[in-house]
Amino acid sequence: MATPVSERGERTYTCDICKVQKRETNRWWLAVTHEGRLTIQPWSAATPTKGAAVVDICGCDCMAKLVSRWMSERL
Ligand SMILES: [Zn+2]
Repeated sequence: MATPVSERGERTYTCDICKVQKRETNRWWLAVTHEGRLTIQPWSAATPTKGAAVVDICGCDCMAKLVSRWMSERL
């Protein structure tokens, strides 16, 4: 039996830091940068805010690295 391919399933998500690929069971996070602010939210395939830059992050360690990188860019 064929499994319908959802829009979400057609795209492969990759962690921006460690380049690991997301699997359905992984609990990921989104780092959203918009108007000079960085926000963190549970992963979703949808872009949360129009005009925002969204980064897929696989977990706490990678999120910490991303936050650190984002902060150093603003020093
Ligand atoms: Zn990662």
